[in-house]
Amino acid sequence: MPDLSEDFRLPVGCRYCGSHRMRVSEVHNPDDKVFCASCNHYVCLYADAKQILEKGPGSESEALLEEAANRHS
Ligand SMILES: [Zn+2]
Repeated sequence: MPDLSEDFRLPVGCRYCGSHRMRVSEVHNPDDKVFCASCNHYVCLYADAKQILEKGPGSESEALLEEAANRHS
């Protein structure tokens, strides 16, 4: 299996390093894990990232990311 992954920009930064560059599998399954492209910490699932992308930057997105991180860690 080749390592197929792609980078994208999340409106909310990584809670460990603040980077907005995230990495996810190219397949884009809702339960694919999204990792920070900079420090490689687990951030959230792709389904969560999609919701955050739809909402854009703001406190609602921050709360979503926080909840997603706590749910899966
Ligand atoms: Zn990071």
